[in-house]
Amino acid sequence: MAVALSEPFDVVNVYKKHVITSCVSKVEPIVVSAGKGAVVTDVHGREYVDCFSGISVVNSGHCNTQVVEAAKKQLDLLIHACAYVYYLEPVARLAERLAQISPTGLTKTFFSNSGAEAIECGLKLARKFTKKHEIISLMRSFHGRTFGTLSVTGQANRRSYSMGPYLGSIAFAPTPYCYRCPLGLEYPDCEIQCAKIMDDVVRYSTSNNVAAFIAEPILGEGGIIVPPESYFREVKKILDAYDILFIVDEVQTGFARTGKMFGIEHYAVTPDIMCMAKAIAAGLPLGACTTRDEIADTFQPGDHLSTFGGNPVCCAAALANIDFIRKEELASRASKIGEYAIRRLEELKKKHEMIGEVRGKGLMLGIELVKDPRTKEPASVETARIRDLCRQKAVLVGHGGTLGNVLRIQPPLVILEDQVDTAIDTIDQSFNEIEKS
Ligand code: PLP
Repeated sequence: MAVALSEPFDVVNVYKKHVITSCVSKVEPIVVSAGKGAVVTDVHGREYVDCFSGISVVNSGHCNTQVVEAAKKQLDLLIHACAYVYYLEPVARLAERLAQISPTGLTKTFFSNSGAEAIECGLKLARKFTKKHEIISLMRSFHGRTFGTLSVTGQANRRSYSMGPYLGSIAFAPTPYCYRCPLGLEYPDCEIQCAKIMDDVVRYSTSNNVAAFIAEPILGEGGIIVPPESYFREVKKILDAYDILFIVDEVQTGFARTGKMFGIEHYAVTPDIMCMAKAIAAGLPLGACTTRDEIADTFQPGDHLSTFGGNPVCCAAALANIDFIRKEELASRASKIGEYAIRRLEELKKKHEMIGEVRGKGLMLGIELVKDPRTKEPASVETARIRDLCRQKAVLVGHGGTLGNVLRIQPPLVILEDQVDTAIDTIDQSFNEIEKS
């Protein structure tokens, strides 16, 4: 039945009836209708400081003017023709720009629509190039929701048994998670055993037929877990000894989020394959898998394709977005504001015993909540309540981590200092309320 446009439309109830949401624990109870910079507005005109960026996507701000203009211009010219059937200028320009900003030697890109697809491409390329089939990933990692990417995701609760079996030939290495070291050691006395153990993982958890190791420079969905500074260098030595490629998953850490254009730049290691999505086009759907010529060129006709991947509107938007990020020096802005936020959050930690750890780089920050700082028992119910209280006070934060006890602070990188203050004051008040109740 046709619905007249003037009829009031009950988004929440229509969602409940017609959108599959049973796959998520909760949809935040607000109907977001607009966004600008670091602020989103709901249908009632209420404004919220957005500290989650649509899961770390709108790094250059909601509805960034340059991005909107570039997308509109391209919409009037050509919306779709398929980048793998015809040559498209926005695709060429974006691929060239990615070659300029990516780690040394990564010059050729395959475009897709999402992060998971970018990772699928990386996994296929690694197998094809090395002629090996096993993959090593990290426990607590997250790489997407397709069967391939779930197979390399180190979280049993996301890889539900009832949807399996998943890909075989995947080994998982211990998470470089100093706050909850899986080896029971303390940094720096541990001498990064979590990295050195990679040799044992290859020898005793695989059949030494490993194509690639895949990792996020900072584990986002896992709970903003920051590996120690020399972790990837130590791991890379072992990978090189066994001719194993390093696929870096920059889906969440890319495009200035962590204070560098790419998260792996903090670790002085060059990956062989880099997968990107989320912030690449400031909210338009696009994924990219960038690698060296010799790896890229192992793909043969029929090996890979995407109908929408490299959509010209998304590519034009991405180009404008990357140019904005560079011109406005959003990476150093993220570092500066992130350092300020960490200082303030460390002050909150002194006040609230429930804050076990504050961590992160740039504006990819996590606050891990515990019931008791000595036992480190996760305070997951309290974390969800703080997220809800913040939203009621018009600040949006993320809630995640493998134990459900991490508040995620990942605002647009254009966030203003007084908006950061508002967000942190609100988090502070929410802790006060929880402690009183
Ligand atoms: N890799 C990482 C590190 C992610 O955080 C995500 C999504 O959260 C993905 C891959 C999957 O990206 P997408 O949801 O665009 O498929």
